Amino acid sequence: MKVIIIGGGIGGLAAALQLLKAGLDVHVYEQAPRITEIGAGIQISPNASRLLHRLGLKPAMDAVGVRPLAVHQRRWDDGRTLQRAPVGSEVETTFGAPYYHFHRADLATLLAEALPPERLHLGHKLVDLAQRGERVTAHFENGAHVEADLLVGADGIHSRVRTLVFGPEKPRFTGCVAWRGLVPAERIKHLGIEVASHNWMGPDGHVVHYWVAGGRMMNVVCVVEHGDWTQESWTDRGEVADVLARYEGWHATVRSLIGAFPETFVWALHDRAELPRWSDGRVTLLGDACHPMLPMMAQGAAQSIEDGAALASLLKAMPGAIAGALARYETVRKPRATKLQQASAANRKRFHLPDGPEQQKRDEAIAASGDRSIANIGWLYGHDAANVSQ
Ligand SMILES: Cc1cc2nc3c(=O)[nH]c(=O)nc-3n(C[C@H](O)[C@H](O)[C@H](O)COP(=O)(O)OP(=O)(O)OC[C@H]3O[C@@H](n4cnc5c(N)ncnc54)[C@H](O)[C@@H]3O)c2cc1C
Repeated sequence: MKVIIIGGGIGGLAAALQLLKAGLDVHVYEQAPRITEIGAGIQISPNASRLLHRLGLKPAMDAVGVRPLAVHQRRWDDGRTLQRAPVGSEVETTFGAPYYHFHRADLATLLAEALPPERLHLGHKLVDLAQRGERVTAHFENGAHVEADLLVGADGIHSRVRTLVFGPEKPRFTGCVAWRGLVPAERIKHLGIEVASHNWMGPDGHVVHYWVAGGRMMNVVCVVEHGDWTQESWTDRGEVADVLARYEGWHATVRSLIGAFPETFVWALHDRAELPRWSDGRVTLLGDACHPMLPMMAQGAAQSIEDGAALASLLKAMPGAIAGALARYETVRKPRATKLQQASAANRKRFHLPDGPEQQKRDEAIAASGDRSIANIGWLYGHDAANVSQ
C-alpha cells in the first residue's frame, strides 16, 4: 500500500515513521525547502513519548530533551504555587514513558533524521488532488504529481488538503495573542527556577515557561486576551516593552523572564470548530489539519502523534480495507481530539479569570486535587493510541 503524507511537521513526520514501521510504502511531501521549526518549545507528554520511544527514538530524545520534575500552577501576583504536580519519575513509573520538554527544532530534526532520506520530498507544495476509483493523485506547484492508495493531509491549521476535500473555511481567531521568547540560561541563573513547567494564571492572561535545549534556554510563552488582533504569523517581531507593559503588576519572576528576552515574536492564536468528517474516499487528515486547538492543554502535537499511531495500527490490521480502516480511525480518534479541543478552550477561560469568587473557587479546586495530579491525568497520559481494535 502506498501512502503519501502532505506536510512534514511533527504530525506528518511522526506518522510517516509509524506507517513505515507498520510496513507501508510511505513518502512525505513538504512545501518548505528544509525541515524547520520556529524557535520555541514544545511539551511532549507520555501519551505521545511512548509512541516515539517505540520507533527507537529514545536515545535521540534523551540527548536533546529536558525531563521536567513537575508542573506548577501559580498565582500571577504573589507567585504562590497552588499545585505542584509531579511529572518526573513518578509519571514515568506510572505511565511507562517520560514527560519531555523540547526545543521544537530539536524534535523536528530528530524525527526527520529517523526517516530514510529518499522518503522525504522537500520543496513540494501541494496545490491540487484528484481521486479516481481507488487511487488518489497529488499535484504539486513544482509540476510534479504522485499517485498513491492513500493521501494523508498533515498540512497544519491552514490545510490545503482539508480545503480541497471539504471546502474553504477559515480558521477562527480565538481572541488570544501570544508573545514568545527564548531566554539563554545564563541570563536568568539568579532566579533559580526549578526544572519544571510553570503556569502563572492571572486576569486576562497567563504565562508558561520551561527549560529546553538540554537546559540551555528557557522557553517563555505569554498569552493575553486581545480581541482586536488578527495577524497569525509565528515570525512577526514584537516589542519586549509591550510585553512588560501588558504584565505590569505581575510577579517579579515573570517580569524578570520577560525582561531577559533577547527578542520576542507575537502571533494570534486560531482554532477551528470540530470537523464533521476527517476522511473522504482515499484522503484523510491528521493533526492540526483536522483538530487544531488552543495550546492550554499542551496537546496539539501530542494528538497528531497519536493520530499517526492509530492510523498505522489500523492500516496494518486491515490491509486491503482502506475505507474500513479510515472509518475506524475517525471513530477512535475524533472523540478524544474533540475532547482536547474543548478542554483547551475551557482552560483558556480558567487560566484568565480575574481575581474574585470564581478565581478563588478555581484556586481551591486546584490546591485540593489538581487536574494534573497522577490520579486525575491517567485518561490523558495513560492512553495508548496504537492499541486500537478493528
Ligand atoms: C503557543 C503554542 C504552544 C504549543 N505548545 C504545545 C505543546 O507544548 N505540546 C503539544 O503537543 N502541542 C503544542 N502546541 C500545538 C502544536 O504546535 C501543533 O498542534 C502541532 O505543531 C501541529 O503539528 P502538525 O504537524 O499537525 O502541523 P504543522 O506543525 O503546522 O505542520 C504542517 C506542515 O505542513 C506543511 N504544509 C502546509 N501546507 C502544505 C502544502 N500545501 N504542501 C506541502 N506541505 C505543506 C507546512 O510547511 C508544515 O511543515 C502549541 C501550539 C501553540 C500555538
